[in-house]
Amino acid sequence: MKKYGFSTTCIHSGEEGKYDIDVTPPIHLSSTFLWKRDDQKFLYSRINNPTREVLEEKMSVLEDGAASLVFSSGMAAISSVILTFTLSGGEIVASEDLYGGTKKFLLNIAPRWGIITRFVDMRDPFKIREVINEKTTLLYLETPSNPLMRLIDIKAVSKIGKDHGVKVVVDNTFASPYVQVPIELGADITIHSATKYLGGHSDLIAGVAVFRDYSDYENVLLVRNRLGSALSPFDSYLLIRSIKTLEVRMQRHCENALSIAEYLKDQVKYVDEVFYPFLKDFPQYNLARRQMMCGGGMLSFRLKTDDTLSINRFLSSLRIIKKAVSLGGVESLIEQPYSMTHAGLPEDVNRKLGITPSLIRLSVGIENSKDLIMDLENSFKNM
Ligand SMILES: *Cc1c(COP(=O)(O)O)cnc(C)c1O
Repeated sequence: MKKYGFSTTCIHSGEEGKYDIDVTPPIHLSSTFLWKRDDQKFLYSRINNPTREVLEEKMSVLEDGAASLVFSSGMAAISSVILTFTLSGGEIVASEDLYGGTKKFLLNIAPRWGIITRFVDMRDPFKIREVINEKTTLLYLETPSNPLMRLIDIKAVSKIGKDHGVKVVVDNTFASPYVQVPIELGADITIHSATKYLGGHSDLIAGVAVFRDYSDYENVLLVRNRLGSALSPFDSYLLIRSIKTLEVRMQRHCENALSIAEYLKDQVKYVDEVFYPFLKDFPQYNLARRQMMCGGGMLSFRLKTDDTLSINRFLSSLRIIKKAVSLGGVESLIEQPYSMTHAGLPEDVNRKLGITPSLIRLSVGIENSKDLIMDLENSFKNM
């Protein structure tokens, strides 16, 4: 439970009463610590480190968990959580449009250990009841989803998880804890690629897992210690520094993304469809209002043309918005999922989801929104 408002929590949680003279967390680069007593907290930095501990305590409060762990990447957090709770012969039920790396892990790597995943469209939570069985260990989902911004009702899915004694894991990367707090809505574990909004400046790779139950934390901690995927002290410091401005950044991301979504809606000559949860005609607008504080900084849109040359002309004419994968930074980034983030997934899987060449994903940064709109406007004219 947060004791203070969101921004105060971002700035002060995990740090109260910890330092003698510092106003901001010192970076403890030491790999090992003087062994003074057998029961001391800090012995070796792969296991525990004072700078990393500040970050973990901050994340626990922000995501309403009992404890949290930070990892060397989002994928390290995701794979560690999955491998902790699902043994050979176990099954995962996952939402069908997932981050490309997660989907590739579930399709190509986890089966090597005998872990099978059943993908369902969780926009209808009843579909989960059709495939869940006694082998199911986890319900795994992302909302809003990547790249189509589909929403899943976290409360409804958590209820199904609870009814069947199955843990619910939510990748909250696209939203950030400013926009939604899955554990508050009933989830058991919240995961982040902290590379994105938590980091916010496209200058670090990190992952987080936050746990409702302390025993889940202890189990994943054992796995992290043995796999050796904890976050470095320096990156932990960078992330602490970034999180302090999370609220003001997220407010601006949300404002800018809504303005751009509304602008794109009006570009009927070039744009077919816009996917943004806080647009009034978004198919799941009511769920968005119930579950999310604002629409977030991610949106996607479908161009009228499927022609590769025109799409490339559009992307390469942009001057402020950069063509790159990743998201959540202060700078706006644009990409074509079909040829970039989601290339390498089976063609029929992508087509079925609507990931075709005309789909463009935009991570709206915190620049001046008029400049971003002007950039899009000029590039549409160059198509
Ligand atoms: C980027 C991303 C990941 C993977 O995180 P890394 O930090 O790149 O390992 C997982 N889930 C989502 C939704 C992401 O956007």
